[in-house]
Formats: sequence, structure tokens, C-alpha cells
Amino acid sequence: MSFTAHAEYLFHITCENCKFYWTYASMQKAFDIRKGDYICPNCGVKGRIDLADEVGM
Ligand SMILES: [Zn+2]
Repeated sequence: MSFTAHAEYLFHITCENCKFYWTYASMQKAFDIRKGDYICPNCGVKGRIDLADEVGM
């Protein structure tokens, strides 16, 4: 018996407006979360995502 693993890249996102926190997952290492607009699930504000320095992208 063996097991198969797939890597998942999980982004932790905090809304600057209401401080709501959620996550966004991707299975692709090259995925760039800075491209595109996102909508806060809590307050509905729309905006772009700035990556924190520790992400290293
Ligand atoms: Zn919000």
C-alpha cells in the first residue's frame, strides 16, 4: 500500500477594511494571487491583494 500527496498553496488573506480573514487555495505553484480583483466575503469590498514579504514571490 502507498499514498499519493498533492501540494496545495494556501494564501491567508485579511481584509484591510473590516479585518475579516479568509483563505484562498491553489494547486499551482506558479499561481500569482496579485493578478486579478478579489471581493471580501464579509463586507463585499473589492480590491487587489498585496503579498506580505515572507511569501517570497
Ligand atoms: Zn472586508
